[in-house]
Amino acid sequence: QAKSGGKAGYQFFSQEMNQVNMRRVALENGMRQGLARGEFYLYFQPQWDLKSLRLTGAEALLRWHSAEFGLVGPDEFIPIAESCGFIFDLGDLVLREACLHAVQWDAFFPGLKVAVNISGRQFRQPDFLETVACVIEETGVRPSSLELEFTESVIMERAEKNIHALQALKNMGVRLSIDDFGTGYSSLNYLKHFPIDAIKIDRSFIAELVTDSDDAAIAEAIISMAHSLKLKVIAEGVESDAQLDFLVERCCDEAQGFYFAPPMPGEDFTGYVKRFAAPDDASKPLSVAG
Ligand code: C2E
Ligand code: MG
Ligand code: MG
Ligand code: MG
Repeated sequence: QAKSGGKAGYQFFSQEMNQVNMRRVALENGMRQGLARGEFYLYFQPQWDLKSLRLTGAEALLRWHSAEFGLVGPDEFIPIAESCGFIFDLGDLVLREACLHAVQWDAFFPGLKVAVNISGRQFRQPDFLETVACVIEETGVRPSSLELEFTESVIMERAEKNIHALQALKNMGVRLSIDDFGTGYSSLNYLKHFPIDAIKIDRSFIAELVTDSDDAAIAEAIISMAHSLKLKVIAEGVESDAQLDFLVERCCDEAQGFYFAPPMPGEDFTGYVKRFAAPDDASKPLSVAG
């Protein structure tokens, strides 16, 4: 207890803390109701191949449109869901919904992949592997259409155990990637030990790509290192022509960002997929900008 700071300081501190805690508790309770009311749903952000200029898939991003709190962002509610254990219910919903969409899109765009973010607690859940296997079986999704994203820190905690879990996922045929690469664990040595397919350059490096030579050097180094390790590289948060040019020149494999399209509801992405599914149309990503 912060008694030594004097009475006024203590009161200020505790008021602030109370407000943060009250919103937290309110969101925590609101989430359960929200799930029952169908307030959670997925948005999808297109990913493009930079060599063939073809659509390759989408990242599924969770949204909560709460009747009570308005639109709440995943950066706020995912950590709360993690700490109260609600992430298990949410994570199952995301995985299942993403796979159902992937099956639907596969019908007119064979091989289109859908990437799903997996949180640390979800991954550490003892029956996570079983859940993934069940969802694949029940939805009939092509396993290679499903990509699971993990952050570096999640992979590095209990590294030994994780190698086995990731290998088991690989054996099911799903793709694995490391999200927000460059912001977490700093040792590169671990990369060779994990059976991953791709790394995603964090958008904090892409933001200043053309104005900050340090960020440019980091992005360039990540791309060449990934390629030496036979990993694909996906740039996230691409917003401008200049950023795209930089990435194309350095042979970055794929990109996603507002330059191509913001995350959109599933029905909208269905239209998007149909638009770019035909081989004739597949080479016009630039017409989607804006
Ligand atoms: P992330 O996985 O790194 O997702 C990329 C974030 O960048 C998304 O934010 C996306 O909307 C945003 N973004 C995409 N393109 C651009 C761009 O060109 N410029 C800028 N400034 N931003 C861009 P979002 O949807 O708010 O998600 C934030 C984070 O919340 C995600 O980061 C991910 O870590 C987490 N998250 C989202 N959905 C889920 C989920 O279903 N499960 C879990 N465990 N985490 C999720
Ligand atoms: Mg992600
Ligand atoms: Mg990311
Ligand atoms: Mg992020």
